[in-house]
Amino acid sequence: MPNGPFAILPLKGNRSNIVWAEPRAADALLKMNEADFLSELTKRFGTFLGELSLEGPRFGYPLSLQMAERMIDQRVCLAGDSAHGIHPLAGQGLNLGLKDCAALAECIADGVALGLDPGDVSILERYQRWRQFDNVTMALGMEFFDKLFSNDIKPLRAARTLEACAVNAVGPARRFFMKYAGGGAGDLPKLLRGESLAA
Ligand SMILES: Cc1cc2nc3c(=O)[nH]c(=O)nc-3n(C[C@H](O)[C@H](O)[C@H](O)COP(=O)(O)OP(=O)(O)OC[C@H]3O[C@@H](n4cnc5c(N)ncnc54)[C@H](O)[C@@H]3O)c2cc1C
Repeated sequence: MPNGPFAILPLKGNRSNIVWAEPRAADALLKMNEADFLSELTKRFGTFLGELSLEGPRFGYPLSLQMAERMIDQRVCLAGDSAHGIHPLAGQGLNLGLKDCAALAECIADGVALGLDPGDVSILERYQRWRQFDNVTMALGMEFFDKLFSNDIKPLRAARTLEACAVNAVGPARRFFMKYAGGGAGDLPKLLRGESLAA
């Protein structure tokens, strides 16, 4: 949408989580009565799942990109949103946090197996090296998509339509995006591959 991304993130059953970015009209939408809100929502969501109803309350969040300059300090490390706050348009925040936790657990387990203290600087540095690239890449990717989709400029509109069609039409591209969005791509820690830390 010209004002910002409107993302439909499927949940179990006939339900979806909606991320609706509206820099100017957010307050009015949050205060609207339910019938008016559903009417505004239907204009964007459509009726492909039938008539819409709300399963829970509406929440408003100020969105901004936040990246910690470093994820570690002496016997301290950051994981999840304490290290990175990214645009929620593709629902990737939790995935990144789970990857951080699984990578940290693996770094500590490997280090302790070598006889190191769990807070040893080499363990924390390995954790930071492992996770920082993925976190920064994902954050910048979401910013790029946000800027690409939050406007009504004709060439950009054409570019994103073309990109969406190409990804839909080309099986390997579609599968890559699905795998990446599902958190299953890249240098995955053992816990996210279903393996034990001891193995
Ligand atoms: C609008 C929106 C939609 C989103 N949609 C999705 C989605 O569909 N899929 C997805 O994967 N991600 C989504 N995210 C991102 C996701 O919510 C976060 O990435 C995830 O919740 C981060 O988990 P976390 O445990 O790192 O931090 P949080 O969930 O923020 O948890 C931190 C916890 O620490 C507590 N806390 C803070 N300070 C203290 C303190 N001093 N002492 C004790 N406790 C404290 C807080 O109360 C909180 O409970 C969305 C985010 C937003 C804003």
